[in-house]
Amino acid sequence: MSNFKSKYHDELIANAAYIGTPGKGILAADESTGTIGKRLAGINVENVEENRRYLRELLFTAPGVLPYLSGVILYEETLYQSTAAGKPFVDVLREGGVLPGIKVDTGTVELAGTNGETTTQGLDGLGKRFQKYYEAGARFAKWRAVLKIGPNEPSELAIHENAYGLARYAVLSQENGLVPIVEPEILVDGPHDIHKSAEVTERVLAAVYKALNDHHVLLEGTLLKPNMVTPGSDSPKVAPEVVAEHTVRTLQRTVPAAVPAVVFLSGGQSEEEATLNLNAINQVKGKKPWTLSFSFGRALQQSTLKAWSGKEENLKKAQDALLIRAKANSEATLGTYKGSSELVEGASESLHVKDYKY
Ligand code: 13P
Repeated sequence: MSNFKSKYHDELIANAAYIGTPGKGILAADESTGTIGKRLAGINVENVEENRRYLRELLFTAPGVLPYLSGVILYEETLYQSTAAGKPFVDVLREGGVLPGIKVDTGTVELAGTNGETTTQGLDGLGKRFQKYYEAGARFAKWRAVLKIGPNEPSELAIHENAYGLARYAVLSQENGLVPIVEPEILVDGPHDIHKSAEVTERVLAAVYKALNDHHVLLEGTLLKPNMVTPGSDSPKVAPEVVAEHTVRTLQRTVPAAVPAVVFLSGGQSEEEATLNLNAINQVKGKKPWTLSFSFGRALQQSTLKAWSGKEENLKKAQDALLIRAKANSEATLGTYKGSSELVEGASESLHVKDYKY
């Protein structure tokens, strides 16, 4: 029975369905202080609170962008920040029709006796933290579990441990009124081909939905954030249609129709590559009972960061770059993106980082 009696039952279902509105998607702006520091270092900007706040204000107030979004994932620090003029970010987003979300995991640690596989931490005291985040306006959450492909990986231990961690997080989230994004990311790192990626993604997603069922998670009030099914980073790339066919088939085999939306991570793909793959995924004919949308971090922010480069006078240029990506990805959720002949600097750059930590 995958349905416990949360007092938030109807609200969870309504918010999950809203986030899955076709034409809209999620901006993942929840980089931890360490991770955002690496991005800022790339453009020679110092990692201090005011610069992190400025960047997030640039993103959330970019003219014309919010209509293409249904959610923004925030890091805890950002949830409590405001614009320079003193308006809480949460209000900026809500007035723009965008639900604020919050990253709640506290990162990964190695599983003893494995070849560098990990489990995600952050369950202790999570119920209390959810209450605080709900009061602050957050209506959905994210927990990232990380798996990797190797000769003997992912191991049964890593699959089981990460699936049950996600399930325990998801039910705590629902008990406190936040829609859980369930994110089992299989890293792209490695020389494997697309068939191996499909096989592993299928095995992992099947385990995740078994765990969610065991924990009585209300599937209608959840979202899935998976990797697209692609060849490994050390393997030749394949056409968007091939990625799309393997990705949709894997989802058909594992993701229950009760789940309203699947919001892909970009996982180190370039901005344009991620958009073209998402577009092709939405063009696949056949059974697709969920909205197929985006929850991109790197693939929504790279050209914006480059355009900004930490300079006040580049603000408009940076916000325009974000608008281009947001609109392109919105079209990709409808399968109507035509591609772009003129790419903004950074849009076709690979954003792959080995063993990526968010
Ligand atoms: P990328 O789109 O940069 O992979 O990240 C999305 C995210 O939120 C990972 O947890």
